[in-house]
Amino acid sequence: MRLSRFVKVLKIRNVSYLFHTLTFEIFKLKKSGSNFDFLSLSSAQIKVLKKFNMLVDSSREDTEFLNSVRRVYVDVRYVNTLFLLLTDRCNFDCSYCFIRNTMKGSYKFSEMNLETIKMSIELFLKTVSRNDRDKFLDKKPYSIFFFGGEPLLNHLVFQESLDYIEKIKSNFPKEIQLNLITNGSVMNDSLIESIKKHNIQVGISLDGRRDVHDLYRKDRRGKGTFDKVLKTIKTLRQAQINVGISCTILEHNVDSMVEFSKWLNDEFGIYSIGFNSLIDTDAMTSDVALVKRYSNNIASHFRLTKDCGIQNDTFLKRYKTFLSQRMLPYNCAAPGRQIVVSPSGKVGLCHEGTGMNNFFFGDVHDQKFDYWASPTVKEWQKRSPLTIKACERCLALGLCGGGCPYTSFIKYGTIWKTDHHFCIFARKMVRAILEEAIAQI
Ligand code: SF4
Ligand code: SF4
Repeated sequence: MRLSRFVKVLKIRNVSYLFHTLTFEIFKLKKSGSNFDFLSLSSAQIKVLKKFNMLVDSSREDTEFLNSVRRVYVDVRYVNTLFLLLTDRCNFDCSYCFIRNTMKGSYKFSEMNLETIKMSIELFLKTVSRNDRDKFLDKKPYSIFFFGGEPLLNHLVFQESLDYIEKIKSNFPKEIQLNLITNGSVMNDSLIESIKKHNIQVGISLDGRRDVHDLYRKDRRGKGTFDKVLKTIKTLRQAQINVGISCTILEHNVDSMVEFSKWLNDEFGIYSIGFNSLIDTDAMTSDVALVKRYSNNIASHFRLTKDCGIQNDTFLKRYKTFLSQRMLPYNCAAPGRQIVVSPSGKVGLCHEGTGMNNFFFGDVHDQKFDYWASPTVKEWQKRSPLTIKACERCLALGLCGGGCPYTSFIKYGTIWKTDHHFCIFARKMVRAILEEAIAQI
């Protein structure tokens, strides 16, 4: 008999616990210390630990358990998201923008037309109709994201597409939630009306108050964009449209997350906020010290704001997974859960790849195109901590998702390496989740 390789001994507030990284079971030990001692256990305790797969008879038992988890979470076909990149143009010039910083000089911009949108939705319908089973997200609707560049630079086609989607959405096996991700620079009465009518969830990028936001998020003339964005947020909220904020964290705002969220909540009734760490490029990177500060602050942000109803989406994504005792096999939908369509109709996995045309492998105009037959989809679909050897003994195994495959590709030339910065963040999140869960017991 031995301790499972998926069990970690953790010390939290001077008490030692066993934690199973795949079942999320927590077992309080009588004696404190970082080593696990069989001799201190009663036969009743041993029985419980065996029942929860914390004690196993052989390493093979662990391997079989991991394989069974892979079959449920990784070896399934399940697309639930369509990303329509309405244009690759943007009227902002944010210095940390990953797409801007990786675009080649010869890059040709284009706009999506209604025909391409129709073909994209047809491909989406064809693909979701072949989903294996709704194992993970069965209660959630499918999602269509309007994204870019700045999608509303192509607002006429955006609005035309809404009427089309309204007509065909009953052909889908489940509801469809529409989402718009915008920089907040383009808005008018007609757009507000469409957004309201079609119950579109709007995500807007805002990095902080004026001085903070304007440091990196500038327009093409180098002018700060805060006033324009704030005007859009106010207009949307006055029209009672749900707005979520996406905030990119760097040195300039890493210590003001709590204050910023409370301000958004008090002034505009915004409760949904996601904090994103920077995607490193040659032009801009974040260092380990910043990643540690970011990770600590995300965890304390959750504790300090949860009573105000603020949703820290970055933390909650993992915390809710933990509470539901499911697993987070992927950090995002790119590993075979989403279809991304470029303005000209090319099919890919990750919108961030548009600047370099990476991981785009098909075309919506090709009637014979089969998403599931693509070797790229097959490879990305397998890319999860549940299949990466280096992740097997990690505390974050079941709650991490493996970080951003595209960042791994950009940093290391392969999607299969784990990103050191992300790992610091993921382990901190899991530790914070356990602290939170133990405090609730
Ligand atoms: S692969 Fe990375 S950049 Fe692409 S969607 Fe996933 S997290 Fe985002
Ligand atoms: S934190 Fe890093 S090593 Fe651990 S499971 Fe996630 S990607 Fe793997």
